[in-house]
Formats: sequence, C-alpha cells, structure tokens
Amino acid sequence: MLPFSQFDADGRLRHLITLEGLSGEQIRELLDRAQTHLRRPGEPPARSRALADVTVANIFTEPSTRTRSSFELAARRLGADVLNLEIQLSSRVKGETVLDTIYTLQSMAVDVFVVRDAEPGVGQYVAEHVAEHVSVLSAGEAHLSHPTQGLLDALTILQYKGGFRDLVVAVVGDVRHSRVARSAHQVFTALEVGELRLVAPDALMPDPGEMPGARRCATLEEGIAHADVIMMLRIQKERMAQAAIPDAHDYFARWGLNKQRLKLARPEAIVMHPGPMNREVEIASDVADGPHSVIRQQVTNGVAVRMAVLETVIASRHQRRGGR
Ligand code: ASP
Repeated sequence: MLPFSQFDADGRLRHLITLEGLSGEQIRELLDRAQTHLRRPGEPPARSRALADVTVANIFTEPSTRTRSSFELAARRLGADVLNLEIQLSSRVKGETVLDTIYTLQSMAVDVFVVRDAEPGVGQYVAEHVAEHVSVLSAGEAHLSHPTQGLLDALTILQYKGGFRDLVVAVVGDVRHSRVARSAHQVFTALEVGELRLVAPDALMPDPGEMPGARRCATLEEGIAHADVIMMLRIQKERMAQAAIPDAHDYFARWGLNKQRLKLARPEAIVMHPGPMNREVEIASDVADGPHSVIRQQVTNGVAVRMAVLETVIASRHQRRGGR
C-alpha cells in the first residue's frame, strides 16, 4: 500500500486529517474561500446548493459543542444531507469491524466522514479504507491534531491583524495536551508568524523537540509581554492523571489571564480561546467578555472554515471523476 496522503494523485486536497504538509499557499486558499462564506452580523448566513448531492456523516466519540454543530451547519448550509452518529470507532480501530461500520454508511451513499476520536490514528485509518470518491475530515484527534480549529484560528487573526509575519502570538496554558496548540503550531509555521511563543508551567509544556521554532516561556508575564495575539487553552483534564491536574485556584493565581496581566500585551492585542472555557481558571470572565476578546468571532469563523473545507474536498472529487 502507498504511504497515506491527504492529497489525491493530482495534488488536490481529498482528506483533512492534519495541517502538517499543507503549504502556506494551500492554507491561504482555504482561508480565502472561507471568507466568501462570512456575512455581517444580523445578516442571514451564507447558503448555497453546492453540496446538494452530498451526504456528510458526523462520527464523534468525544464530547463536542462547537465543532460538531458547526460541521453540521456548514454541511446543511451547502445543501448536504447530514447524519449524526454516536458510535465508538476507537475501541475497534485495530479490528475489522470498524470497516463494517464505514462500509455500511458508504453503502448508504455517505460521501464525507467527519471523525472525532480520543485515540490517535482513527481518522487516517478510516481514510485509508474508504472508496475513492469518499473524503474523511478530522474534527479532533486525541491530543494531536484539530485542523479546522487551526484554520479558524488563522482566519480570525487574519481578520483582526491583516497578516501574520509581524505578529507575536502567545499560546498559553495546557500546551502539552492540546491538539489545538499542535494545529496552531502547524498553521502558524506555514503562514510564517513572526514569533510563536508557548507559555506554560513546566508540567504542561510539550516534550523538548516538539513544536520546533517556537519560543518557550516559563511565566505568563514573559509569555504575553508585547504579544499581538494571546490564545488561551483549557486544561485537558481528560488527558491527565487525576493527581497531575492542577488546583484551579492556584492555577488562576499564576496562569490565569486577567485584566491586569493583559496590560502587558500590546494595547490592541486580541484574546482567543477555542472553548469550552473554564472561567476563573485559565481566563477571567471580564477578559473573556471584554473588548480584546474575539472568542465569539472564532465560533462564527468555524462555520465558514468548515464550509470551505467541505467544498474543497468535494471539488477535488468532481475533478477526479471528470478529469480522468
Ligand atoms: N474544543 C477544543 C478541542 O476539542 C478545545 C478543548 O476541548 O479544550 O480540542
């Protein structure tokens, strides 16, 4: 079998399991396409019939609010049929039966599988086995990857800052267990962000060698000084041993982003958070809801980005069919 690739034989994006390997140009194309799906607040959302002959199955085996509902809305607003399934893929990933599930859905003309799983490798495994016209999109893979989150974060920064090269971006909190941080590192590296900082206590910093090129900061004050973008992360309790989970009160005292600390960043800095937020643990409520926060715009951008990704993989399918 050939090594796995997200791209088809003609180099078009067929699956999206990771942002690793996508060029800055490919990412910009996705962001440009996403922007065509944004509307002014209060206006009806963008809709089309571009995916009217497409069926999308959401298979989420970890909790999700934003990602799942935005994938569903994205597909529906493009005219697709949507199925939401609660089936465990990970426990069966090494056996054959996961394929029975996938092939069953494929026989019902599912064209796109959107997969979230706590175990690494599930999305790729499914992608390696689906029919040639079918695409697989990751909606979050263990602690490793959350590609559409990376794209929506980049789109949000582009909207507020107009570019990437001159920016200082601080990713703060439980970087070690965060798929959001890993996808952020990939997307910001491809887009050549000026300076990327990882800001975390020792126990929540990734292993040395991971996320190369980023500057590691051991205090919040150092990490956010003169930053243009502050991306706060939730403590991923579900990926930690009980004894390792920091005390919420102590954590907020040292690592929580409050109004006072925010003054260390640039005056026009933006504050991001992928959600779900733990208020008064990693972020103070008055910062989360304050004038620097772009957290709700991130959610809006999530739908637009997922529309763009769905359209892109379906366009590659049409070209594979028509072009040969
Ligand atoms: N919603 C994001 C994720 O699925 C961030 C988080 O859960 O903290 O990774």
